[in-house]
Amino acid sequence: MASTESLTDDGSVRNYVDGEWREVTGSEGQDVVDPGTGETLAHVPFSTEADVDEVVAAANTAFESWRSEAVEARIQPLFRFKTLLEEHQDDLARTLSREHGKTFAEAKGELRRGIENVEVACGIPTMMQAGNLANAAPDIDESAVRRPLGTFVAITPFNFPGMIPLWFLPYCVATGNSFVLKPSERDPLVAQQLFELVDEAGFPDGVVSLVNGGADTVNTLIEHEGVAGISFVGSTPVARHVYESAAAAGKRVQAQGGAKNHVIVSDSADLAFAAEKTLSSSCACAGERCLANDVVLVHEDVYDEFADLLVEAADDYTVGYGLDEGTDMGALITPDHVDHVLNFIQTGVEEGATLLRDGRDITVEGYEDGNFLGPTVFGDVTGDMVIAREEIFGPVVGLAKVADFDEAIETLNASKFGNAASLFTERGSEARRFKHEAEAGNLAVNAGTAAPMAFFHFGGQKESFFGDLHAQGEDMIHFYTDKAIYIERWPDA
Ligand code: NAD
Repeated sequence: MASTESLTDDGSVRNYVDGEWREVTGSEGQDVVDPGTGETLAHVPFSTEADVDEVVAAANTAFESWRSEAVEARIQPLFRFKTLLEEHQDDLARTLSREHGKTFAEAKGELRRGIENVEVACGIPTMMQAGNLANAAPDIDESAVRRPLGTFVAITPFNFPGMIPLWFLPYCVATGNSFVLKPSERDPLVAQQLFELVDEAGFPDGVVSLVNGGADTVNTLIEHEGVAGISFVGSTPVARHVYESAAAAGKRVQAQGGAKNHVIVSDSADLAFAAEKTLSSSCACAGERCLANDVVLVHEDVYDEFADLLVEAADDYTVGYGLDEGTDMGALITPDHVDHVLNFIQTGVEEGATLLRDGRDITVEGYEDGNFLGPTVFGDVTGDMVIAREEIFGPVVGLAKVADFDEAIETLNASKFGNAASLFTERGSEARRFKHEAEAGNLAVNAGTAAPMAFFHFGGQKESFFGDLHAQGEDMIHFYTDKAIYIERWPDA
């Protein structure tokens, strides 16, 4: 049933199909819960095969005319979308903070990084050019042309529900494809609001669509013969599954997975600065970030001093409700996820790591039903420990002592993940070695979080990424287009 509203009267999310809001027909689903209060905010019914068929059919019909629209016409709705996103940034950030738990400032920052991608995609008239050469052979001019491919799907995780859809949507439609988003079922409400703005921005019907659901909906989309390609962001086991099944179904696929990010603290580093940046990288968004610092490899000569500074910084961190003034760190996404993090902390204790700061048993006054944990710092972590190897995805950071830079690089590179790494140093020679030797896709020197701007690609290595072309920027243009060669000869009559 079509509507102008993104939510039904009883608070269920609708799909956005062919330029209108339609009810999901599936009977299974789950609630969206405010992680700071435990209050139910909405319900997500899971889309069925019939719902997916409807979305993909509308997207493919729209593609037939959208692909031949002039490039200038294709970016006009994106300009309007950018303006609307900025006008509604506070509203979007409030919704995001409420359903995810992160602070209002973090939510606003996340949206800003998403908007950046809309801005970059507006440069498609130059970014989509593919090169040409006069007289490539006698009397022959040769050129390459980039062409769109059809309907692409993005499947996104809970931790950046406002930004990650925007790693894909703007580039997909600017290159002349149709786009379908399947947001996380845990916090889909900011996507509903993004699509209210998509509706207002005036994209032609069917060019941009939203389908809600869970794992079955994802698998239906992957298998669907009307889908040309899949972008996935989420945990490593699901990323691997999506990569393998989409490739087996003959589709383009890029799949970003989980992380275990290492930081090296050199004996030359500004320790107070390094401690502050490391702590905020570990605990921003309650540690639910693929770029969060997890393991800190500290030179043995400065280990004790750095450990004290890090614990001090953690003590200064205020845990609270995301929308309340003064909160540095909000709630974790679900009670189950809190249990998952608590299990890791218990494992760390049993493995013999030293609990330098214990963030368990925290209560936030007025929010007794919230999913809160405080910053937790382990010392004496060694490479064989589970807490040094597996992604925890909570506000937990472990310190390991290293004898020198060689040992630090070796430990970092032993990780099965390769999403991000940081180095704090005052030595150019260490920075240069780090740049060339550290096996991670996002590297930062004297910065806690290696987050690239939208005009650069975003993606990890090893088990943090399956595919070749990454999210954001120029890689997205390559992912969303095929290149054809055009050769012409015009002999005199
Ligand atoms: P998740 O893998 O549980 O879910 C991601 C998406 O996959 C959701 O839309 C969900 O509906 C779908 N999904 C879940 N299980 C599925 C299954 N069995 N089959 C098919 N689809 C399924 O991830 P999450 O918990 O929402 O997000 C956190 C994870 O995402 C962390 O591991 C984090 O490191 C990772 N992440 C990575 C990046 C990156 O750039 N590498 C960015 C953000 C988050």
